[in-house]
Amino acid sequence: MSLREIRENEQILQRMKEAARTQVVSHAYILESDASVDKVRLAKEFVKAILCEDREMDGSSCDACITCQKVDHDNHEDVFLMAAEGNSIKDEAVEEMQRRLANRPNAGSRNVVIMEDADTMTLRAQNRLLKTLEEPAPGTVILLLSENAEHLAQTVRSRCILYRLHSLGTELEENIKLVAAETGEQWLNGEPFYKLVKAMEPALADKAAAVEFLDAMELWLRDAMISLYDQSGAIAAGNRWPQSAREMKEIARRCGKEPIYQAIEAVEEARQDLERNINTGYALKGMLLR
Ligand SMILES: [Zn+2]
Repeated sequence: MSLREIRENEQILQRMKEAARTQVVSHAYILESDASVDKVRLAKEFVKAILCEDREMDGSSCDACITCQKVDHDNHEDVFLMAAEGNSIKDEAVEEMQRRLANRPNAGSRNVVIMEDADTMTLRAQNRLLKTLEEPAPGTVILLLSENAEHLAQTVRSRCILYRLHSLGTELEENIKLVAAETGEQWLNGEPFYKLVKAMEPALADKAAAVEFLDAMELWLRDAMISLYDQSGAIAAGNRWPQSAREMKEIARRCGKEPIYQAIEAVEEARQDLERNINTGYALKGMLLR
C-alpha cells in the first residue's frame, strides 16, 4: 500500500537529515528508484544538507546560504556532477572523477560526487570506482543514482548504503485520489464553482496530474452511483475513499442518478479535451461547468 511507501521515503529523508545533522555521513550511497523520481533533485537536497553552513536543527539545509545556492546552481567547487555520455559512464569519466577527488576540497571539508545513470557504468568503470570505494579520501561522499541497483556489480553495491526510493508517482496518485473524492463530493452537493476549483487545484498542476485526477474522479462518481444500489457495503470494504459507503450513498441519494451520469460524461469529455491538448485548467474547469 502506498501510504506505507510514503512513510518509507520519509524514513530515508529522516536518515539523510540525521546524517547531515550529526555529520556522520557514509562515503557512498546508492539512491535507487524508477525514472519518475527526480533523483538528482533529491541528491542535491541531501548534499545541501550535508554541506550547508547554516543547517536547521533537524538537519535540513537552510536553502539560502552561499553553499546551498551553489549546489542548486551546479557551481559548487567541491561537488562533481557526472552522467552517462552516450549510453554509458565510461572508464575515463570515473578516472576524471578520481582526479577531482584526489584534490583537497576547496570550500569545506568534503568532496562530493553525484553520479547520474550509475547503473550504466561499464564493468571497467565499476572496477575503477571500486578502488575509490575501498579507500575513499576522508570526507568523500559519492552518490550513485540508479534506476536498478541490480545492474551494479555486487562488489560496488556492498560498499554503498542503498536507499530504495518509492515512486513519487504513488504519492501523487494517493493525493489526487483524495482531491478527486473531495471535489466529487462538493460537485454532487452543488457547491459553487469557485469552491470546486479550489478543491481540485492540485489536479491543475500539470497534465499528468489532470489525467490522474480524471481517472480518480470517474471512479469516485461510479462508486457513488453503485452505492445507490449497494446493500452489502462493498465500497466500504474496498476502502478506496475518505467517505464511508454510507456517506457516499447519502451524497448520491441527495444528488440523484441523472446528475451523476452527466458528471461521468463531463469527465469523459474533459479527458478528450486533454487528448486534444486543450489547456489543463480550461479542460477541468469546463468539466465542472457542464
Ligand atoms: Zn545553507
